[in-house]
Amino acid sequence: MEFSIEKLARQNILKMTPYSSARHEYDGDAMIFLDANENSFGSPLPENYNRYPDPLQVKLKEKISLIKGVPAENIFLGNGSDEAIDLLFRIFCEPGKDNALVFPPTYGMYEVCASVNDVEIRNIPLTSSFQLNLEAIENSIDNNTKLIFICSPNNPTGNSMNRYDIEIILNNFNGVVIIDEAYINYSKQRSFIAELTEYPNLVIMQTLSKAWGLAGLRLGMAFAGKPVINLMNKVKYPYNINTATQMLVLSALENIDTPNEWTRITVTEKEQLAKELASLTITQKVYPSDANFLLVKITGARKVYEYLVKNSIIVRDRSTIILCDDSLRITIGTPNENKQLIEALKRYS
Ligand SMILES: *Cc1c(COP(=O)(O)O)cnc(C)c1O
Repeated sequence: MEFSIEKLARQNILKMTPYSSARHEYDGDAMIFLDANENSFGSPLPENYNRYPDPLQVKLKEKISLIKGVPAENIFLGNGSDEAIDLLFRIFCEPGKDNALVFPPTYGMYEVCASVNDVEIRNIPLTSSFQLNLEAIENSIDNNTKLIFICSPNNPTGNSMNRYDIEIILNNFNGVVIIDEAYINYSKQRSFIAELTEYPNLVIMQTLSKAWGLAGLRLGMAFAGKPVINLMNKVKYPYNINTATQMLVLSALENIDTPNEWTRITVTEKEQLAKELASLTITQKVYPSDANFLLVKITGARKVYEYLVKNSIIVRDRSTIILCDDSLRITIGTPNENKQLIEALKRYS
């Protein structure tokens, strides 16, 4: 399949001149910076934040490049994965004309970003085993289909999509295929990162919000070919990742062992919790999960949800979502939290 960024991206995006910041025009090691109208005295804080941050997060990308094995020029960093999702709509989809495919039940932000940008969303439900419906997908694609979002492992179902199905889409679709791997650290499946060099139309999204335990710092990563990354950098706000986040994430990434250990514990706890949940009389089904949560089909899910709220335990009621009737999504907590959840549910049944 021929991939041409010039044909795929919106003409206004290709033609526009990006904002050129002071820090962009001069990035040498001068001593006196009087070019950006910053406050030269400092900040009323123990650390100084008076200077604008690095717009392209060079140091942070070098570090992420080492961890992920992806060249820095193939990395985009955003204010959460959500920024990357929004940018892809703005770069590739002409409002009121183009469309994007999503496969519910799945992450809600794809559709929210589409709506904000006045882009048509075509919903093609997963099959009853939560896999891609390739035939329906093929029939829904037309000349205005620019983006396809595949969430794997999928939120809220927890399963990974069949690798072969994803490859069929990558090999046959001319637009951009986004694989959202927010939960990849918990998965037995391999990341698609190794396939980046193979597919110029592939964008992989990962995040520091889950396995890395840094949701509050807001750092999402997108990995893609240079033409796509360059457009994302062109369109993003110049200073999208603040100095505090860049510094804190850089030091957090030095400590890879702790998140790895939490991930191992989470996977063990998930298997244990799945067994305990399955043994409850109210449980109809515990779905297989490659993520840090379980989707559980429970008799009277809404009542169970409300009972848990009264016991100070909050899970996510997904029972109004397609293919998820009577289902709760339960994040794996600490061993003690999981124990309290099971004890509360045993008292209920
Ligand atoms: C949690 C989650 C994200 C993470 O979003 P951030 O904006 O990076 O916090 C992305 N995709 C999916 C499917 C998620 O569940």
